[in-house]
Amino acid sequence: MILKILLVIGVIALVYFTLIKKKPSIDKSQKEKKSDKIGSEMIECSVCGIYFDLDDAFLSDAKYYCSKECAKKKN
Ligand SMILES: [Zn+2]
Repeated sequence: MILKILLVIGVIALVYFTLIKKKPSIDKSQKEKKSDKIGSEMIECSVCGIYFDLDDAFLSDAKYYCSKECAKKKN
């Protein structure tokens, strides 16, 4: 009798966790999409004013520039 109860609890727990595990995975994919948007943030070049992707930025004196040429021009 105890084994049957444990089996039922086990099955319920299994179904419960498989249902719960599916929901956070959806939330994670949504969070990853949001983090992707932050990762591809558009910033303005301090020299020529062109908007470009933060991933392609040249960092010089704590300022972002669109290219090495612009980073040199600021001097
Ligand atoms: Zn520039």
